[in-house]
Amino acid sequence: MDSLKNLLQQKNCKDVVVLTGAGISAESGIKTFRDSNGLWEDHAIEDIASPEGFYKDPEMVHRFYNLRRAQLQDVYPNPAHTALSDLEKIVDNFTLITQNVDDLHERGGSQNVLHMHGELKKIFCLKTGKVDYFEGDVMSEEFSFVRPDIVWFGEAIKYSTEIQKAFENCDLYLCIGTSNNVYPAAGFVQAAKMKNALCIELNLEATALSHQYDLNFYGPATEIVTQFVDLFR
Ligand code: NAD
Repeated sequence: MDSLKNLLQQKNCKDVVVLTGAGISAESGIKTFRDSNGLWEDHAIEDIASPEGFYKDPEMVHRFYNLRRAQLQDVYPNPAHTALSDLEKIVDNFTLITQNVDDLHERGGSQNVLHMHGELKKIFCLKTGKVDYFEGDVMSEEFSFVRPDIVWFGEAIKYSTEIQKAFENCDLYLCIGTSNNVYPAAGFVQAAKMKNALCIELNLEATALSHQYDLNFYGPATEIVTQFVDLFR
């Protein structure tokens, strides 16, 4: 990490974009897809993360997200989440994009989080088209007219304008704890490269797109993200 500190100083990186995935929350106790062999808490992805799955069985889908929402009460931000909230305060421009639907970045102190795949604590009313903050369980009498405000397969991501803007002056792109299997997030490294940003992957292990990054650091997020952010202090 010493030579990296020199490189960061030479490049004088000030405009930072970070993408996080399920891996950053793994050590807080929230399972990733990979932990569960491509299943999400024992469910096939298409059953609980597609509009077709929802219309086929809204009750099962709501019960699944009720459990995910309830789980948030038993998990806490880990040092990787808090390190990123520190980094937000240190650099000039900072954008945190997350694929995660949990609220651990916010609870770790991050101010501005772009939840590109939605949030467990938001609900979408199919009658009014309104999105509301939501805690607790969706009750059976509501199953047919509300849905979790989660981006499912085949649906457009949220905050695409803000995300595009974030890359305009990006000089450092960090990709943390994501398998890089899901587009468009997996393509962000290309957007960063077009701006000549330094692109760094931080993950437990190599991913399918590791070769596209300038540097890769492997290890648990609580260790490597905190070590990385310490380089800026
Ligand atoms: P993924 O499950 O496909 O991949 C997880 C990645 O995290 C892997 O590359 C793995 O090597 C890495 N990882 C695991 N433990 C780690 C650790 N301790 N430190 C660092 N890296 C670690 O997850 P994804 O790429 O985020 O894509 C999955 C999709 O599933 C997202 O769209 C997301 O919305 C959804 N999801 C969200 C959550 C959550 O909100 N916490 C959890 C599961 C799935």
